[in-house]
Amino acid sequence: MQNETIAVHGSYNKKEGYGSMAVPITQTTAYAFRDSEHAANLFALKELGPIYTRLNNPTTDVLEQRFAQLEGGAAALCVSSGQSAIFYAIANVASAGDNILISDKLYGGAVTLLTHTIKRFGIEAKIFRSEDASDLEEQIDEDTKAIFFESLSNPQIAIADVEKIVEVGQRNGVLTICDNTVASAALFNPIKWGVDVVVHSTSKYTNGQGTAIGGIIVERDGLSEFFKANENRYSDFTTPDASYHGLVYTDVPLPNFCLRARLSLLRDIGAVQSPHNSWLLIQTLETLALRVDKHSDNALEIAEFLEAHPKVKAVNYPGLKSDKYYDKAQKYFKGGKASGLISFDVESFEEARRVIDSAKLFSVVVNIGDSKSLIVHPASTTHSQMSPEELEKAGVNPVTIRLSIGLENTEDLKADLEQALN
Ligand SMILES: *Cc1c(COP(=O)(O)O)cnc(C)c1O
Repeated sequence: MQNETIAVHGSYNKKEGYGSMAVPITQTTAYAFRDSEHAANLFALKELGPIYTRLNNPTTDVLEQRFAQLEGGAAALCVSSGQSAIFYAIANVASAGDNILISDKLYGGAVTLLTHTIKRFGIEAKIFRSEDASDLEEQIDEDTKAIFFESLSNPQIAIADVEKIVEVGQRNGVLTICDNTVASAALFNPIKWGVDVVVHSTSKYTNGQGTAIGGIIVERDGLSEFFKANENRYSDFTTPDASYHGLVYTDVPLPNFCLRARLSLLRDIGAVQSPHNSWLLIQTLETLALRVDKHSDNALEIAEFLEAHPKVKAVNYPGLKSDKYYDKAQKYFKGGKASGLISFDVESFEEARRVIDSAKLFSVVVNIGDSKSLIVHPASTTHSQMSPEELEKAGVNPVTIRLSIGLENTEDLKADLEQALN
């Protein structure tokens, strides 16, 4: 099945239950077991089924399976936010004493999480250049557990050299994790390019209307073999887990990465997605491809408008022929489309603040991927917790304005930017 078909039909059997055309919400905390043996079998993984909504839920199951199909993965795990998806993906493989390699171009929340917060848990993050991965391999050592990067980065709007990163990861037996939030599953499927694990903040384009926070982790098929082939690095998967009566994950014939994240991290740390949010995301996923197409077309038109504007010093949008990531967008993204994020530079910090405050149709919001167009000053908001050196390394400039282009008519958007710039 093609992605547009999966997005509306995947993993739901409407002949079950009442024949409800819409995927029903199972808004419950717990599930009645048939008897004590049934309960014991579920806990022992001899039978699969819902136990308690912190661990699994039938509505969330549909979203997980549908999303996994869409990304070309073997399984998925929904969590309560994009941040928890990133944390769980890392904590699933790295422990105190280990290190990870992270891209120099990441979402601000990922930077603080991965460079500061996980350090408190004894995990060190080393930074590499995701644009060409030229300094990636030399930084890998025996304690390196993951390579983390964004396909299309927020807010720098840079495209990673996915092929090179995957090649280095595979050659060294190190897991690659790609945050695919901004490109979205409609434009890019990292697993098809050999990435091991994909994470998303589903709060953004997947939701598309700014109505729910959510996160998802998707794993490729065959990670069990990967862990066995690299058992020194990934012994947590190949040796007994004392917290689950000695379970060895690679012995279980289920996709191992999500299994361990569910059975240990979701069980113990509990950043679970509510069934209601899963249900909302099932609705919005149906129109993901349509929306991202329109976001991309609108953004290209606005980027061209800005590029021609005398008050604009520079525009970053990979859909522009002049953009340094244009070739990568053509190579990796469906139809060469580049999603809805644009950044542009004006004369000064003061001018950036003035333009933002003058916009009327654009809302000053730190979200992205909404149907409504949004404008923000990353240096004083999403990236304000970073030091000047960190800002520079992350490519976040005080004169830069970020736009998330919505689904409005572009004539209205251009008119609003025109009056704000003048
Ligand atoms: C927003 C975002 C996140 C964090 O997601 P939340 O759902 O807000 O927790 C992670 N990565 C990227 C690229 C994002 O844009």
